[in-house]
Amino acid sequence: MDYDAIVVGSGFGGTVAATTLVGAGRRVLILERGTWWVSPEELGSPPALAPGRARLVDWLKQEGEPVQYWPRPDHKDGLLYLFAANRSKRNPDGLYKISSFDEATVVTASAVGGGSMIYSNVNLRAHPEALDAIGLRLGEEEYAAAVKWMEDVRGPLNRIVTKVPLPGRDVADLGADDYLYFDRSRVLKEAAADVSAKLGIELPWSPLDLSILEYDPDRGAESGAAREHTFCRRQGRCIFGCLPGARETLDRSLYDHALARPDAGATLLPLAEATRLRRVEGGYEVAFRDHRRGGEDRTVSAASVFLAAGTLGTTELLLRAREEGGLALSDRLGRGFSTNCDFGAFIVDTAKPVNSADGPINTCGVRAVVDGRHFTFEDTGIPSMVAPVIATSIRLLDTFVRRRLFRGKLRLTWLGQSLRDLKMLLPNLPDTYDPTDVRTEAETVANIFLFHVMGQDDASGRLTLRDGKLDLRWEKPVADQPTYVMARELCEEFAAAMGGRYVPMEEALPQLRRLTITHPLGGCGIGPTRDAGVVDEVGRVYDGDGATDTAVHDGLYVVDGSAMPGALGVNPTLTIAAQALKSVTAAVRPVST
Ligand SMILES: Cc1cc2nc3c(=O)[nH]c(=O)nc-3n(C[C@H](O)[C@H](O)[C@H](O)COP(=O)(O)OP(=O)(O)OC[C@H]3O[C@@H](n4cnc5c(N)ncnc54)[C@H](O)[C@@H]3O)c2cc1C
Ligand code: SF4
Repeated sequence: MDYDAIVVGSGFGGTVAATTLVGAGRRVLILERGTWWVSPEELGSPPALAPGRARLVDWLKQEGEPVQYWPRPDHKDGLLYLFAANRSKRNPDGLYKISSFDEATVVTASAVGGGSMIYSNVNLRAHPEALDAIGLRLGEEEYAAAVKWMEDVRGPLNRIVTKVPLPGRDVADLGADDYLYFDRSRVLKEAAADVSAKLGIELPWSPLDLSILEYDPDRGAESGAAREHTFCRRQGRCIFGCLPGARETLDRSLYDHALARPDAGATLLPLAEATRLRRVEGGYEVAFRDHRRGGEDRTVSAASVFLAAGTLGTTELLLRAREEGGLALSDRLGRGFSTNCDFGAFIVDTAKPVNSADGPINTCGVRAVVDGRHFTFEDTGIPSMVAPVIATSIRLLDTFVRRRLFRGKLRLTWLGQSLRDLKMLLPNLPDTYDPTDVRTEAETVANIFLFHVMGQDDASGRLTLRDGKLDLRWEKPVADQPTYVMARELCEEFAAAMGGRYVPMEEALPQLRRLTITHPLGGCGIGPTRDAGVVDEVGRVYDGDGATDTAVHDGLYVVDGSAMPGALGVNPTLTIAAQALKSVTAAVRPVST
């Protein structure tokens, strides 16, 4: 065997697996289809390093690793950079992977560090009732271990909900100092209190725990800011890459805790896309396309394989392993796909400014339980780079919907409004007498609030291979599931409390009924037997031909979002990390114990 273990994918599940295996002394190969991405900005005063230790960006240059840089322009021009960063057949080292299916578009990352490279840094526990509903056995102990892993391998979690750092203050309640909150955070807090009083339901508001470096002198030399010589500068572009390098991304964790350890037998191959998996004597063989060598096909083998290619990637690999490699698997494979009820809702013309371009992408959230289903409503930033385009599109949709409501009567008004909105995208002759003229990109979204809603959907999607390609379908229209209807209704209540209007985009254009999913889950869900799940409680893959219905393929594990047996109703990475840690800890535990 070439290695003790192969880890496919370097996102949350992959990094938990790789760092734990390396810690247990295993020789590990990590295959990652994406490349390295770093900030193009250099630190004016970098921290001192231990002798012989290089910073990640310097190490990448020394080793001749393939590396790309975050799009820099924080204005309209940045859009071109974003398009250039899309992964496609012609651009296999692109960062954003957009997978389009009939009823949904799924957005994932393709990079060393996986989803952490484009995500918004939120760590949130799923509610025990939501876990019970899907049979996921994670409790206090597993979540505490996941938080410890996040803090040890990444850095302290911080609550960044204020315009300036407030070391030592409890930012959950600033009393009379609440003017220090980001405007959108405060507006959501106030709206939650109003809607709660109106509907008579509990809607607790809370700042989110973020994997972002905050200026925190109270933690002294141990503070993340002192260690890295940088901290969050509230630039509001986390999902497009953080220029000050304030996000605790997993590429750094892999470098610090696996690749840079001289004693560790860890190798990471970027631009290495796993294509096939099959059982061989003593373990498994993984075939991969080496994009650094013009797409050459190569194979490697190991006693165990940890699949962490994400919900779509891992499910596709196992579907292919069954169809092309003859691996006997559970009939549940591909079933139980959950959207996590991902839902983005725009509210326009809020009575108070919300200044959506300021601050981290998500700063705070409101938890809700409606008809026994758990929901999370988070504020969502709109980066300046995309703000004018989003503002124009949303305003056009809003007026379009209203025009349909008052068909005929408002046609002229609508035309006037639309032309004015389109002006936002055109060059302008400045009028310094008009306070609304010469707006910054950020000001175009000063009164547009964006919600990211998560909830418990029915997890009834099915992933299959159709004509050799991954396909995702539902038996009934997914956007009509009760969870989505409830989420929309609550957004309308929040809109009224904010003094604004909810924009029912799907009414304007039927095409907008397509969901955009950023938290795909399931496909290889955990279950007590192979009739109920694809993997067991610790991620071991069930053997479809085994003597019993709990027999597994020795050494084959699933450790990513695909193992989730349903919706979590919150941002999923803390739960994915907790489950991955549980799996890989069991995998490295000596048999005698
Ligand atoms: C814009 C955005 C914001 C988000 N914000 C948050 C947030 O704030 N908090 C939160 O909890 N979640 C957030 N998420 C969701 C989160 O990113 C995912 O749930 C998480 O990354 C899933 O972890 P994973 O280990 O399952 O897979 P991933 O992190 O997606 O990792 C899979 C890795 O496998 C690689 N891969 C795929 N196929 C192959 C192959 N065949 N061969 C080799 N490598 C392969 C991929 O390139 C990727 O690096 C966000 C997602 C998006 C898109
Ligand atoms: S808000 Fe800006 S500075 Fe802060 S983490 Fe996000 S991108 Fe970085």
